[in-house]
Amino acid sequence: MPTLTRAEAADRAAVVDVEEYHVDLDLTADGDTFRSRTVVRFRARAGAATFLEFEPAEVASMTLNGAEVPSAASTGARLELTGLAEENELVVDALMRYSNDGEGLHRYTDPADGRTYLYQHLFINNAGRVLPSFDQPDLKASFRVSVTAPADWVVATNGMLARRDGGRWEFAPTQRISTYLASLIAGPYHVVTSEHDGIPLALYARAALAQHLEAQAPEILQLTRQSLDRFHEMFDIRYPFGHYQQAFAPEFNFGAMEYPGLVVFRDEMIPRSKVTDSERERRANIIAHEMAHMWFGDLVTMAWWDDLWLNESFAEYLGSRVTAEATRFSDAWTTFAMQRKAWGLRADQRPSTHPVAPSEVSDTDEALLNFDGISYAKGAAVLKQLVAWLGDEAFLTGLNAHFEAHAYGNATLADLLGALSKASGRDLSGWAEVWLRRAQVNTLRAEVTRDGADYAEVAVAQTAPDGYPTLRPHRIGVGLYDRSPGGGVVRRKRLEVELEASGRTVLTALAGEPAADLLLLDDGDLTYAKIRFDPESAANVPLLLPLLDDSLARAVIWAATLDAVVDGERPVAELVTLVLAALPVETEVAVVEDVLRATRGLVDRYATPETRPAALELLAQATGRLLAASMPGSSRQLAAARGLIGATTDIARLKGWLAGDGVPDGLTVDADLRWLIIYRLAVLGAAGPDTIDAEREQDRSASGEQWAARCRAARPDAAAKEAAWAAVIGDGTLSNRLAELTAAGFWQPEQLDLLEPYAERYFADMPEMMRVRSGMSAEHIAQVAYPAVAVSARTRELAAGLLGTAGLNPILRRVVQDADDDMRRALHARG
Ligand SMILES: [Zn+2]
Repeated sequence: MPTLTRAEAADRAAVVDVEEYHVDLDLTADGDTFRSRTVVRFRARAGAATFLEFEPAEVASMTLNGAEVPSAASTGARLELTGLAEENELVVDALMRYSNDGEGLHRYTDPADGRTYLYQHLFINNAGRVLPSFDQPDLKASFRVSVTAPADWVVATNGMLARRDGGRWEFAPTQRISTYLASLIAGPYHVVTSEHDGIPLALYARAALAQHLEAQAPEILQLTRQSLDRFHEMFDIRYPFGHYQQAFAPEFNFGAMEYPGLVVFRDEMIPRSKVTDSERERRANIIAHEMAHMWFGDLVTMAWWDDLWLNESFAEYLGSRVTAEATRFSDAWTTFAMQRKAWGLRADQRPSTHPVAPSEVSDTDEALLNFDGISYAKGAAVLKQLVAWLGDEAFLTGLNAHFEAHAYGNATLADLLGALSKASGRDLSGWAEVWLRRAQVNTLRAEVTRDGADYAEVAVAQTAPDGYPTLRPHRIGVGLYDRSPGGGVVRRKRLEVELEASGRTVLTALAGEPAADLLLLDDGDLTYAKIRFDPESAANVPLLLPLLDDSLARAVIWAATLDAVVDGERPVAELVTLVLAALPVETEVAVVEDVLRATRGLVDRYATPETRPAALELLAQATGRLLAASMPGSSRQLAAARGLIGATTDIARLKGWLAGDGVPDGLTVDADLRWLIIYRLAVLGAAGPDTIDAEREQDRSASGEQWAARCRAARPDAAAKEAAWAAVIGDGTLSNRLAELTAAGFWQPEQLDLLEPYAERYFADMPEMMRVRSGMSAEHIAQVAYPAVAVSARTRELAAGLLGTAGLNPILRRVVQDADDDMRRALHARG
């Protein structure tokens, strides 16, 4: 997509003020294009020139204030206008291309029934693929949409339906919104409607998912109501966009997107097979996250992508908070501590790290790259720390003042800090400088000296990484945990302390206190830092962790342990031993899933080819014990079964489960679990094309098509690898999701001999892939297809070679830089 620079956006905003887009789409024709007739009404500085984003397949006519616009004004990416009047009316009639990459107007045909579905996704700079537009967040306008489509379709947009006549839909004008927030779905979607507190509610999913949508609608609607109520308690401005519709669309690139009035989710969120409670919690969190954006992002929008974090950090923080406070998923902060923060920490320690709030994002390419664990998870963790520091009342008062001042407009970090400072009476500039304007993370290490059985001194040493010398003030909890005579673990004491922005803080309150079996820094997970134990506590982790009741404390301990292994401070073999001891008794499913995912990733890359089989066998044993200890039919049982399937090499047992033999009581081997087993068998060379094809024959669904693509790519067969690689690199007809899943199946640590040539080929072929594919999907494929399991100095040399290429695509450059840094760590850990 054409890049828009910050300077261009600022210049354009100085010239143009947009009133309305009246978009009229005709979606009835066959072929690869649709008709888009758009009237743009905007004010301008008289005599000035400007441009709109516009990527037509074919232009029928263009007029500006009644005069024809010369065809040369449309460059293929932009429409250049000169001689503007004070009041302008641009009328453009054109054919536009459907997409298959999840951006623009995505078209999908469901293999289950041959029906066609469309959804529009204009973020971050794709509005020009549907209509001529001033595509930048601070040029807000009202959207009035009309659609002609097959009469048996459902069409929905941000705006409420004003008129429907057969195959013609006309929607009421929206409030003023940014172009990237204009939304539309069209197709034979199944619909569930409801209402809450005067707000019309609707859910949409493909017809093939109708029975699952119906079955899951009560839970989704209840979460929606609970979240709406909680936001209405916190915020003075009521939900501002009329109806609240939630659509589940095929091959959507994000988890979901916060279009005002019509949120779109990826339709994997309407699962057809059994899922765990933690996956349900994730959906609840996303529902709350997108709803938070209705205020943070949609009502008040960042002026430019510098303040992307204002959108995402707040939505991430409020998503977890509202999920924990208003829904049955009261442990949402445990999941955050375990999963989301690890994502932020990883991103923050890579070469591409950036401040939460960068002072300047130069263009839309850079903005897209900042859509990472820093803008989401680190930002949210930092906000959690801010709330601990300011107090909740001042925090909410400041937010409400901010919304009040900038409703339906745009705002910056300075605006928000001003509102929070006023509400709290505290000057936030110093806090913002070290937490928001400076990249990277501090380490907090417990330093303990003893006097017999008592502490002589407990101190917290704060360090910063090379090149990022900033130390920060932290407010943290400190917990003292002991084994109790009854066999459990009790928290004897917890205190909250302020750590100054200095190297060492002595916790004077603990001098003379009997030494604990385990001293836990950041107990309660209030701050954002890497946590390290004192040696005695570290030695006691394997004994105490399985006995701790508090899931949040366990999550903090697990996260610190995993982080030390990632850093190569502790060997992966020690982690696997801990998993074997502690995982079989872990009751929090989110913790089970994340420990398994993280440990598996470390075993695949940090263990050597010689030590990996034994480590994997121990993981299989751990999941086997967890499975045996789980209640039949429970989420924990399902998580354990999935972990076992992924780790085991016992082909007979897997085949038995497929045939219904030896399946644990209460475990349903349903469609997706069957595919997971076949996937593992394919990796192990025990499921060939016949098995995959036969399963696909039985399962004609969209999920079946995706699983089959992944399984085919996973087979240890030279021809299968060649076909998969060619499809990922060069087959532009393959959709975003099928390409991603093909790439996801490709690399297997079991198949390194076969795959060796593809390490070279990745670096030779990826620039071509970036030309064939675009945006978010291309970035994701470049990540997934990386030879991350080909851990060798040679892979690093190849990466260095590509990074030395002039003119390398910036998205690919960042992917390779970061993946290469992960490889540096893996090599270090192996060495
Ligand atoms: Zn978001």
